[in-house]
Amino acid sequence: MALLEIRDLHVSFHTYAGEVQAVRGVNLTLEKGEALAIVGESGSGKSVTAQAIMRLIPSPPGKIKSGEILFDGKNLLKLTEKEMFQVRGSEIGMIFQDPMTSLNPTMTVGKQIMEGLIWHQRISPSEARQRAVEMLRLVGIPSPETRINNYPHEFSGGMRQRAMIAIALACNPKILIADEPTTALDVTIQAQIIELLKELQKKTDTAVILITHDLGVVAEMAQRVAVMYGGKVVETGTVEEIFYRPRHPYTWGLLASMPRLDLDRKQELKPIPGSPPDLFDPPKGCPFADRCPYTMYICNDEMPEVSEVSQTHRVSCWLEHPEAPSVSHEPIVRISSK
Ligand code: SF4
Repeated sequence: MALLEIRDLHVSFHTYAGEVQAVRGVNLTLEKGEALAIVGESGSGKSVTAQAIMRLIPSPPGKIKSGEILFDGKNLLKLTEKEMFQVRGSEIGMIFQDPMTSLNPTMTVGKQIMEGLIWHQRISPSEARQRAVEMLRLVGIPSPETRINNYPHEFSGGMRQRAMIAIALACNPKILIADEPTTALDVTIQAQIIELLKELQKKTDTAVILITHDLGVVAEMAQRVAVMYGGKVVETGTVEEIFYRPRHPYTWGLLASMPRLDLDRKQELKPIPGSPPDLFDPPKGCPFADRCPYTMYICNDEMPEVSEVSQTHRVSCWLEHPEAPSVSHEPIVRISSK
């Protein structure tokens, strides 16, 4: 049994302009100890999916309309708020894009780590303090015994993100959700944070869901990838399958638009022309049909079924149909060995 299984999840936001169908039937699984990256452009539904797992969709205007999120066999969508409070922090931790807005500016970093430990693990304040020092050391904060008394504004951007990771991992969660954890940081610090997450994942055997639009980060850290577009998962596979043998035209476009060091000078980055679908009135067929170079009549009329390319590789595209024309493309991506 998977550690986490999302079944047919639908999430909408009700606004004055109408209903935004942000997530439209997402199915995903996460195994124990694995790192799954969810990639896609802004508005594809990846962050909303992560927030739904934590039941952090602001309501109103948001609403989880239907579906199941099974964690260790229990449906998180059926838990009471009190039960969900236990899950958040102690069993599933989350780190956000901007640590400055996620950390409490009026509390020392140490107190913020200790708070979760005292609430969830019911340990004494002195034990919690000791554990908070250990956590700060684990995430690479120098002189943790004194730094524990600092406020977030006394930390640099990279250190704040490390502190967020310490808070999220303090109670040994089974899953860590990292939503664009490096976007707000400069490039060298980004690399350090990804290195740290990789190291901690190995050390603690925590399963990680990494939400990102950065394919470089995916290649560095994940074992499996889910590609989202227009509120749906359009392709899933191992990192090797998605980078070397992608099957969905959107994934081809995503890879072609990725800056790479191995790119020949004459080869240009190719942005995907057009814009994402209108989720107020989503297309009834394939969400990528308006931008896809291979669109057929059926693409506009019917959403393609999920086709199984291998045990680990699934794609939702009419090109997989036995009667579809065969098309060729050349994804040339080199990924560094982990
Ligand atoms: Fe393109 Fe059709 Fe495949 Fe959608 S289903 S990605 S429009 S070929």
